[in-house]
Amino acid sequence: MKIIMLGAPGAGKGTQAKQISTKYEIPHISTGDIFRANIKNGTDLGKKAKEYMDKGALVPDELTCDLVMDRIQQEDCKNGFILDGFPRTIPQAEALENALTAAQQTMDYAINVDVPDENIIKRMGGRRACLNCGATYHVEFNPTKVEGVCDSCGSEIVLREDDKPETVKNRLNVYHNQTQPLIDFYNKKGILKTVDGTQSLDKVFEDIVTILGDR
Ligand SMILES: [Zn+2]
Repeated sequence: MKIIMLGAPGAGKGTQAKQISTKYEIPHISTGDIFRANIKNGTDLGKKAKEYMDKGALVPDELTCDLVMDRIQQEDCKNGFILDGFPRTIPQAEALENALTAAQQTMDYAINVDVPDENIIKRMGGRRACLNCGATYHVEFNPTKVEGVCDSCGSEIVLREDDKPETVKNRLNVYHNQTQPLIDFYNKKGILKTVDGTQSLDKVFEDIVTILGDR
């Protein structure tokens, strides 16, 4: 079962990917993890990627695709895998498609966790973090016992820069410009499945299991 996770930042696709990984016993693959592993192990691909990263440059699509292809050929991926955070753009999706075709493989599902922008902005805006101990909270879903004060260490909790509406809106704009076209791309390939990501985490996962089938 080969799955690509799609969805806006903050839509909860990473959380769902982890649950899919556990239930179906297939690895959850994020490009960040692949980069770190290859650089740590000093592989040729890792060395190449590090050269770009050290310069503060983006790793080229072809190289990222090579790293992903190398990862998904490994033994633990023989029953499938979940790609999270790749592909992110149409050129990346095309590079992956070509590489998979050359390896005589195809993706089975592209799962789109759909959440409207205003819900994401509201969700992120409710997050609070303790800068002292790193604990995280949510004013609505996971509030502290005393308003504004960290349960673990008693420090003040704050809305992080990353979670502020302006920052979130900017990230959503990048998503709409670069990543949303993938929804069309995979729809045309006939593998797109959309789930309503505004529901509870459990209900979203239930809907995904309905799509993937029980095991
Ligand atoms: Zn704290």
